[in-house]
Amino acid sequence: MNELYWCEFAWLGGDTAERGVALQVTGDRITDVTPAVAHPPTNSTVLRGVTVPGLVNAHSHAFHRALRGRTQVGRGSFWSWREQMYAVAARLTPDTYRQLATAVYAEMALAGITCVGEFHYLHHDVDGVSYADPNAMSQAVVDAAGDAGMRLTLLDTCYLTAGVDGSPLTGTQRRFGDHDPGAWAERAEGMASRVSDNVAARMGAAIHSVRAVPAEALPVVAEWATRHDAPLHAHVSEQRAENDDCQRVHGCSPTELLAGAGALGPRMTAVHATHLSATDIGLLGGSGTGVCMCPTTERDLADGIGPARQLDSAGSPVSLGSDSQAVIDLLQEGRGLELDQRLASGQRGHWSARELLRSVTTNGAQALGWSELGRLRCGDLADLTTIGLDSVRTSDAVSTSVLETALFAATAADVRSVVVGGRVVVNEGRHALVPDTARLLRTAVHAVLG
Ligand SMILES: [Zn+2]
Repeated sequence: MNELYWCEFAWLGGDTAERGVALQVTGDRITDVTPAVAHPPTNSTVLRGVTVPGLVNAHSHAFHRALRGRTQVGRGSFWSWREQMYAVAARLTPDTYRQLATAVYAEMALAGITCVGEFHYLHHDVDGVSYADPNAMSQAVVDAAGDAGMRLTLLDTCYLTAGVDGSPLTGTQRRFGDHDPGAWAERAEGMASRVSDNVAARMGAAIHSVRAVPAEALPVVAEWATRHDAPLHAHVSEQRAENDDCQRVHGCSPTELLAGAGALGPRMTAVHATHLSATDIGLLGGSGTGVCMCPTTERDLADGIGPARQLDSAGSPVSLGSDSQAVIDLLQEGRGLELDQRLASGQRGHWSARELLRSVTTNGAQALGWSELGRLRCGDLADLTTIGLDSVRTSDAVSTSVLETALFAATAADVRSVVVGGRVVVNEGRHALVPDTARLLRTAVHAVLG
């Protein structure tokens, strides 16, 4: 697979996009980057608009997509939303999960996403009984990403208790549990050996939260990730109630508990990190722990606004995720980081377009264990996302502020083409492998909800 692309504009990591960039792709890699090429070379594929590295969605729960629109009715909180989410989780099977996840990942590809971190905790059959293949649900997720032409990091999630006090799992939660940390590690080990044969998938570990993993089990998950040189993720302080419970039981914050368990460091990503103390920010930043913000979900669930800028300044790279899939649009996640801060502070200009773009590319790839992804750089994997500059939202973009147009005005609907590892997955806004993605989404959601 050799292809020469000519990009009308391309972001090569600077403050602005370069005009006229030729990218040679050989196999699944970028093998040459030539800026200042005024006109498309003969036999090149022309990418009109601005081409950026494939967008990376660092935090996803694919099946939450079935809730879209349905959970916007009436009032409530994170906790009432969670009951609705459990009702969907109760009904999924490996077959319906694979179909739904394929549709969701195809929607992500159409939004310019080429790599997703699936924070996967729906492991077992109803009543918590293992399937004949204990990794049937994990395999469904990995296969779905392949069907949709996406890269995936499977963040195999440890989920053992219903609360910080160690209360047992009940109802649908029993599907999430492996009974003890050793059983989780053994099942994850089995999945890791399968994923090792898949060039488009990688393995990671996750601590669901300090609610769901007892203090004595935290080091088991952290050590598993270290042993496999794999990313480690955890939901951290999304809700004040989690902080309060942790203080009551352990006398410290969730971040302090994770630090004591040896979980913090560059391989770790704290997801949400919404309600943090100055000590928490110091621990996360000082250890180089990444944070993943999910602004559209955090708004949707009325979680709050996390201290993203302070975390970045303290040393935590910020990535972004679509989480509950209320919206799948990383351009909106990017601008959400800035716009939420504007509302909270009364000031503009906390994050530049370049910094926001880095969050949805380079930082996301790093958080998911893909160090050779997230930049348009010779030798890196050839994942390219092109955003059109001729729609009603983006027309008349100024050449010196193309990145600002992309981050503050464009939406997922403006993604024109997507290349994953040298393979065209989206062409002129249509998915090459899942041509009628909207129909598949409808079919897949109805198969689960009836
Ligand atoms: Zn989440």
